[in-house]
Amino acid sequence: GRTFPKPPQTRVFTVANQKGGVGKTTTTVNLAAAMAFQGLSVLVVDIDPQGNASTALSIPHTQDVNSVYDVVIGGEPFSSIVQECPDIENLRCAPATIDLAGAEIELVSLVAREQRLKTALDAYLKEEAAAGRRVDYVFIDCPPSLGLLTVNAFVAASEVLIPIQCEYYALEGLSQLLNSIQLIQKHLNPELSISTILLTMYDRRTNLSAQVADDVRAHFPKQVLESTIPRSVRVSEAPSYGQTVITYDTNSSGALSYREAAEEIAERAVR
Ligand code: ADP
Ligand code: MG
Repeated sequence: GRTFPKPPQTRVFTVANQKGGVGKTTTTVNLAAAMAFQGLSVLVVDIDPQGNASTALSIPHTQDVNSVYDVVIGGEPFSSIVQECPDIENLRCAPATIDLAGAEIELVSLVAREQRLKTALDAYLKEEAAAGRRVDYVFIDCPPSLGLLTVNAFVAASEVLIPIQCEYYALEGLSQLLNSIQLIQKHLNPELSISTILLTMYDRRTNLSAQVADDVRAHFPKQVLESTIPRSVRVSEAPSYGQTVITYDTNSSGALSYREAAEEIAERAVR
């Protein structure tokens, strides 16, 4: 296939939805892998204490490993936690460790508690660019909550990517997310925009998936990607092998649709 265009500047996405199990992590790692295979330089920032994105990318994230916790709470430089993904060139990851679970509470009493990720990440991106290693895409994988860690991600990003699972309750709870984002835009990060919505776990055999997809498209005509991600066993198997579906089964429907979604995102940047 042809290569994806490089964005004019680093694009930082927060992948958020306070619902669990909607495909945030799956979307983060697969878009990141798809882009890295096209020669783009990609950084995944895992801020979910569960560390699922780190696992899917085969990045060690036991408690002795330096992680986003050491940056956000310890004030360590971002460069001290970044690891190269062992299987995928051009892909780096800032892992999450379980100590991040306590960070929500610990952040409350820290100065500039909403900006800590942004400050560290921006400094890192600047250093890397100066060293000729500009990062093209950053994807921040959020926990399923709208707590201070997610707020840090919204402040650090310029774009929000919302994965929406094609099921009955999809739009329910979305208003809470949109309200939060509005508050962030008003008080903390006026640059932030909801640029991208991806429909995940789409099941062609049910009318329900099609109905939910139509609904979401009607609400967000500009943001929803044309590509949808099908429900596929291969997608769900990949992380248990420490892999993305892009590497695990590169010709599967899941891999194909994540590549298409990644290309759409990359193409939108230069339009
Ligand atoms: P979140 O990060 O929002 O909690 P995950 O990405 O971890 O969601 O996905 C939740 C579960 O659904 C995981 O077990 C994942 O493997 C599975 N899953 C995600 N996307 C798909 C898909 N397209 N097809 C089948 N299973 C999927
Ligand atoms: Mg997750």
